[in-house]
Amino acid sequence: MNIEKLQHILSDQPAYRLKQAKKAIFIDLIEDWDEATVFPKDLREKLNKECPLDINATLTISKDANTKKILIKLDDNNEIETVLMKNRDRNTVCVSTQVGCALKCAFCATGKMGLTRDLKASEIVAQVLLISRHLKKKKEHVTNVVFMGMGEPLLNYDATLDAVRILNDKDGLHIGARKISISTSGIIPGIKKLANEDIQVNLAISLHAPNDRLRQELMPIARKYSLEELFQTIDEYIKKTNRKVMFEYVLIREVNDLPIQAKKLAKLMRKPLYMVNLIPYNETDMFEPSSQAAITRFKNFLLREGIEVTERKRFGRDISAACGQLSTKK
Ligand code: SF4
Repeated sequence: MNIEKLQHILSDQPAYRLKQAKKAIFIDLIEDWDEATVFPKDLREKLNKECPLDINATLTISKDANTKKILIKLDDNNEIETVLMKNRDRNTVCVSTQVGCALKCAFCATGKMGLTRDLKASEIVAQVLLISRHLKKKKEHVTNVVFMGMGEPLLNYDATLDAVRILNDKDGLHIGARKISISTSGIIPGIKKLANEDIQVNLAISLHAPNDRLRQELMPIARKYSLEELFQTIDEYIKKTNRKVMFEYVLIREVNDLPIQAKKLAKLMRKPLYMVNLIPYNETDMFEPSSQAAITRFKNFLLREGIEVTERKRFGRDISAACGQLSTKK
């Protein structure tokens, strides 16, 4: 799985061996090097010993079978969660980038775990690979990847971008950059760096409040980066990339779902290439979800104001796989 390690092991082999190995891993989706019959037996044995392909994982399936949560045990026994969401012909994988998270957003179960460590690029890719193997048995494949699982991707920037490149590689899983989204709580240095990358992934910003005061209550990181500074950075990002930015807004009952807040949000969002994704809150022990009537009222107000708005479908609440519910500490 570790491409650098694989390169090192195959360094004394003809160059085409690495290409064959990548095809075996990412296209044939083998789970054991013995399946790579193009390789001589002694090389397969060496690879099985030094670069094994097994991933230690446990699967939980939601009642409607559209959401699957996978608990992955890493080599150092730390655990992370990955979610597969099925929606019509889309198979979207929500990947984690850190074990836990340091940012302590008030509405998020992962934040309560604290940060244990960053994931390596290979550990991020392994999550998509595992699901690709699972889908292959149903003759399906991963269509989209969202970096919205455990952790803040832009605080593990290099591994996140390395993983994006491996996922996008035409000799690998070949997932289009436009099918890959990175979601951030608003890490300004990371957004600035991303604007200069030669790979055009989608950017999503966790906004969740239309003013600094409430945002700081919900997301402590907002004390470091004000909305003014954040919007200035996003406008520069759009100027450079000419790409849409999605603002995620999780609707919490009587916290951020009031008409006055919809009005403030509309004022902030009235810009080209801005769009809003409303996310029904998934209950944790802190807050309650907005009623469907409040969600509809909020959404309709934004629509009337000419804002591009979508409402995210709820996924996997019964297996704690929905937004804000991922935690390996039970
Ligand atoms: S919402 Fe994201 S950034 Fe905030 S604590 Fe949870 S995982 Fe971290």
